[in-house]
Amino acid sequence: MSTVDLPEVSPRLHFIGGEFIGSRVGETFDAVNPATEEVTTSAARGRTEDVTAAVDAARAAFEAGEWSRAKPSFRREMLSKVADLIEARSDEIIRLQSLEMGAPIGPETKGPHPVVARSAWNFRFFAEEQELARNESFNRDDSLLTYTMSDPAGVFGLITPWNGPFMLSTWKMAPCLAYGNSAVHKPSELSPLSMQVLCEIFQEVGLPAGVYNRVLGYGPEAGVPLVEHDDVVGVSFTGSPATARDIAARVAPGLKRTSFELGGKSANIIFADADLKRALPAAAMSIFMNSGQACVAGSRILVQRPILDEFLAGFEKAADAWKPGSPFDRSTRLGPLVAKRQYDRVMSYLDIAREEGRILFGGGRPEGLDKGYFVAPTCIIDTNRSARICQEEIFGPVAVVLPFDDADDALAIANDSTYGLAGYIWTDSQSTAHYVSHRLETALIWINAGFDRDLRQPFGGLKTSGVGREGGGRSREFYTETRFTSFPLVPR
Ligand code: NAD
Repeated sequence: MSTVDLPEVSPRLHFIGGEFIGSRVGETFDAVNPATEEVTTSAARGRTEDVTAAVDAARAAFEAGEWSRAKPSFRREMLSKVADLIEARSDEIIRLQSLEMGAPIGPETKGPHPVVARSAWNFRFFAEEQELARNESFNRDDSLLTYTMSDPAGVFGLITPWNGPFMLSTWKMAPCLAYGNSAVHKPSELSPLSMQVLCEIFQEVGLPAGVYNRVLGYGPEAGVPLVEHDDVVGVSFTGSPATARDIAARVAPGLKRTSFELGGKSANIIFADADLKRALPAAAMSIFMNSGQACVAGSRILVQRPILDEFLAGFEKAADAWKPGSPFDRSTRLGPLVAKRQYDRVMSYLDIAREEGRILFGGGRPEGLDKGYFVAPTCIIDTNRSARICQEEIFGPVAVVLPFDDADDALAIANDSTYGLAGYIWTDSQSTAHYVSHRLETALIWINAGFDRDLRQPFGGLKTSGVGREGGGRSREFYTETRFTSFPLVPR
């Protein structure tokens, strides 16, 4: 298969009030290609002054009303155009994303790349949803009629991670903008490249200046002043539980609303009657996709004892299909980890794994790749469910396999976690599947299926995997203010 050319990248600037501008104090930071460890370009390093300018622009746009009070049909048309242009620039978006965080470009696709298609769908879905959304009315005999109204709430802070930099950003900004709000977005400092395309698209379609603003930079320098700003009414955040706790404490004095989509240590439960032809590649995909840097990764694989040996042999074979290499080679399936800090973190967990269990395969750098933050697909066995490697989110291509006896044993292991994001169940028995899914302490459950979404469903996590839900009507609740008006139906 062929290798794709690296994209050209200009230095990245903030996007404030519809214009690309540098930092007020002129500072920058480096964007690094994780596959080569080379600097690709510089990015504006946002500080309080930049955040203030962005929030001011967002507030002014909100008050001007060109977007916040626009007809739903106007917003639908504009956001649908955004979706069309995202799809038209699929190649460019995917190359920039590979360059910033190392995700393999993958085989050539007929239409837009799946990540891009999903990003466009986020916009199309909420463009329609906001137009079709209904208010409620209630009447109490003929003495009182009441009706609800859901209005845009104001300026939101949107803070996103690097592991799905383009898609996860659109997952927040599409509903935020669709319901008429303004946004100040702070993407991760590790992925400052691909969102440039969306800023250009917003300029091209004529989104009123200031409705969407992006400030680049680090969490403590640009994220903190954003969440603390008095004119920010709410924060939607995707990232780690530790950062969520910090944000929660900072927004508490202002009693701001928050939505947190956080980490996971999800169990992939494989019963002896499962169709292994499907379950095996799906188990490998679940933990090796994006080099394991996925919140919903099936990082704990629970296998019923009678098929343990067969599973482990098959899993090693399935892992072989995850060929590591340059993200720009179309045959590569496993790219590098995003950055040195993530590489060091995963390597330190592999040291812990050697003490807490046994590495069946992988466990270090893949052969022949001396540069870049690559870690080979890894499988750990002979450990126990309370070991750190079974409890903590490693966020690398590292699976832990734990055997179980029956459904109750599987549930005891799966639910022994501070996380509660996703669960995967593989069995031929409907009653086993439903028994386990009802008792599994996670917010998202897939039975005999890989990761797939219906955007009308609420997405989020239990326990430390999240607070609140987004998706369909839940996003509308989060991004609007709901009020009621009541009046008598009989003259007084
Ligand atoms: P992170 O919490 O370190 O950073 C996330 C974002 O928050 C970045 O933009 C960062 O700059 C910013 N930030 C950091 N400190 C901040 C602060 N004090 N105030 C405001 N902003 C701050 O997380 P990460 O390493 O970028 O992402 C990985 C984590 O995200 C993993 O735990 C993963 O499971 C989780 N995640 C969850 C979902 C989900 O939908 N549940 C999706 C993707 C990733």
